[in-house]
Amino acid sequence: MSVHDVDREKRKQISVRGIVDVENVGNFKKTFNRHLHYTLVKDRNVATSRDYFFALAHSVKDNLVSRWIRTQQYYYETDPKRVYYLSLEYYMGRTLQNTMINLGIQGACDEAMYQMGLDIEELEELEEDAGLGNGGLGRLAACFLDSMATLGLAAYGYGLRYEYGIFAQKIRNGEQVEEPDDWLRYGNPWEKARPEFMLPVNFYGHVIDTPEGAKWVNTQVVFAMPYDNPIPGYKNNVVNTLRLWSAKSPIEFDLKFFNDGDYIQAVFDRNLAENITRVLYPNDNFFEGKELRLKQEYFMVAATLQDIVRRYKSSKFGSRDHHRTDFEHFPDKVAIQLNDTHPSLAIPELMRILVDVERLPWDKAWDITKRTCAYTNHTVLPEALERWPVSLLESILPRHLQIIYHINFLHLQEVGAKYPGDLDRLRRMSLVEEDGEKRINMAHLSIVGSHAINGVARIHSDILKSDLFRDFYEMHPEKFQNKTNGITPRRWLLLCNPNLSDLIEDKIGSDWTVHLDQLAQLKKWAKDANFQRNVMKVKQENKLRLAEMLEKEYGVKVNPASIFDIQVKRIHEYKRQLLNCLHIITMYNRIKKNPSAPFVPRTVMIGGKAAPGYMLAKKIIKLICSVAQVVNNDPIVGDKLKVIFLENYRVTLAEKIIPAADLSEQISTAGTEASGTGNMKFMLNGALTIGTLDGANVEMAEEMGNENIFIFGMTVDEVEELKKRGYNAWEYYNKLPEAKQCIDQISNGFFSPNNPDEFKQITDVLMKWDRFFLLADYEDYIKAQEKVNQAYKDPVKWAEMSINNIASSGKFSSDRTIDEYAREIWGVQPSWKALPDPHEPRDI
Ligand SMILES: *Cc1c(COP(=O)(O)O)cnc(C)c1O
Repeated sequence: MSVHDVDREKRKQISVRGIVDVENVGNFKKTFNRHLHYTLVKDRNVATSRDYFFALAHSVKDNLVSRWIRTQQYYYETDPKRVYYLSLEYYMGRTLQNTMINLGIQGACDEAMYQMGLDIEELEELEEDAGLGNGGLGRLAACFLDSMATLGLAAYGYGLRYEYGIFAQKIRNGEQVEEPDDWLRYGNPWEKARPEFMLPVNFYGHVIDTPEGAKWVNTQVVFAMPYDNPIPGYKNNVVNTLRLWSAKSPIEFDLKFFNDGDYIQAVFDRNLAENITRVLYPNDNFFEGKELRLKQEYFMVAATLQDIVRRYKSSKFGSRDHHRTDFEHFPDKVAIQLNDTHPSLAIPELMRILVDVERLPWDKAWDITKRTCAYTNHTVLPEALERWPVSLLESILPRHLQIIYHINFLHLQEVGAKYPGDLDRLRRMSLVEEDGEKRINMAHLSIVGSHAINGVARIHSDILKSDLFRDFYEMHPEKFQNKTNGITPRRWLLLCNPNLSDLIEDKIGSDWTVHLDQLAQLKKWAKDANFQRNVMKVKQENKLRLAEMLEKEYGVKVNPASIFDIQVKRIHEYKRQLLNCLHIITMYNRIKKNPSAPFVPRTVMIGGKAAPGYMLAKKIIKLICSVAQVVNNDPIVGDKLKVIFLENYRVTLAEKIIPAADLSEQISTAGTEASGTGNMKFMLNGALTIGTLDGANVEMAEEMGNENIFIFGMTVDEVEELKKRGYNAWEYYNKLPEAKQCIDQISNGFFSPNNPDEFKQITDVLMKWDRFFLLADYEDYIKAQEKVNQAYKDPVKWAEMSINNIASSGKFSSDRTIDEYAREIWGVQPSWKALPDPHEPRDI
């Protein structure tokens, strides 16, 4: 029996995957055949694998709809406080398996497909990833949706239905090539368009003063078409909604051309408006300041706020008064969470609705807005902070600019009253930056317009208070909170690592799927030889499966006994893939220098997309591929060391890679990675971490104890000291011969013999203006890697550490994170109680 056959048997057996009931299987087969016939219009003679995938997806979706309708009815009837999560990104990945798992029907579906002679895993591979995100921020939003549904919150995700998600990365001759991600090409079986709820969004025009107040007139209108996506909770009959907006031209779009008689041109130009939701901007932690991006942000916010206000008005509270809506209770019924500043125009837009449309006095409106909105900061990197030019806002959103100016006027009055004469503080705290081109600082807008501001790991929240938002913290300390990120254990353990899930269930039952801190019980078996053997056997199986894939996809044979050392995340200078690369080169040089010395074999895998305009990040990919060429083809190296650049890293690839990792690389410069969530996925799957005291690594180390993690490098304080002292890379270069050798090889063309200057740019940055101090951490990093080798040579110790990692990962469930947001920011109570099963007869 192959590994895959074993998996199929396992998937059938695992009880947390749903009891296989003959009636369910029979019904499912009927539904499947009905969809093949009536939805796909195929019979089994002509159906393709893709037809089978769609028939399967539609059949699974059928199991959602009654629960979806009932959940929404329930919210309508009970009118709880609604939570609105606003995000420009949702990095969902695939939906099929997650839906089957959350509905508890995976066993039945597996069996039904098996009985029909179909391979369900093969069909699952035909689903496109919903790649509507760049990296951690977008994936966090996806994990949060899962947890909000699982915790029974009346929550809605709002975002954009990009026609093209994050580009597909191809590696050609060692270089990244981007291909468009046409993910909707074959249709999306999960979404439901709601043309009846289409809403207008205005752009451009100008503002006139009228006796009744300001009026925004002569605007250009674009319609927002909602597409609803079901978000099932884990086995609780809750199905929430992710509503994604798509831009539609209004019928009368561009009357000018129609009146000119250029009918054809007018029809062509309808596309211009619809470009708004064409494509996701592929920048991670970088602000580009493009006009179309500003339009995307406003388009999402304007459509969403109309929807929120409409829903409030249709509720008992909103419609209590016969004539006018009573907005007094709006903040008691509505919580809006801003996922970074990307949706921060929600603040002036809500003010515009309340003041200009609903005619509330400014102060009343401002109080409501502040009590409704909360802002999550995701980065302290200056190049990532949104600062929109005033000129752009003036042309696209003239009324919002006025409102922002008035918010700023009152805000600075407040600051001035509290700190009389402190002009520098006024300048620092202003929403308007006056040096150079006038810009609006969107983080400052988000802070003054929110009642809660949070960072995403303790160390990051502390940096916000002591550094980036220090002045704001001094003025309003009560607004500042921490909400350490988390990941959903359903996708990141149950789905992606069924064999480990099974093993855990054997020991502690299945409660951990919704109460991840239960994993702590595993600590008592950390030294148990039998459990160690089983955990390591699962890891070895996962490694073998990945090795099989690597050989098929890359033609590289890897040593399955080697350390699988993995760094997967967006390529960015601050994440320091280059430091990893220096370690690879150091290992290579050591092997070459002394080929007969003992060596703990490694397979280093690095994966991630570079933003298409980020030339240095693309160069780093090329360097990794070039180093791989040299290392992998050197007979002296043999199977001691292999280097692989993993192409097209995305959610689906993460699910295959992470369960096979021995070692997780989390090596950002202290103070730069807000939290990280990749780190948590690895920990939950039993990989050990080599990392800096940055982001959530700090809390991971705290949970597992320093003896279970390889911490190295400067602390935030030491980085600050170094900055003050002045960093000089040459000091380290001259002091560390191995570092010198690496740098020399990169710069003299050792890895690029056909183009010796290929990587000159990289060594220039490293030696002259490295903002991330790679060489300052090099020596300690190499030493920590040697400790990794020592630990790996002792399989019993390694297994114990691995189990301790799994057992300590309970804190990093997004269920815990969402519970904290719910109680401490949104003012709602999570409920673990399931809704009634709509397929069971209801009590009368
Ligand atoms: C979790 C995840 C990330 C975030 O990884 P970090 O290491 O925290 O940057 C990025 N991309 C994908 C596909 C992920 O699943």
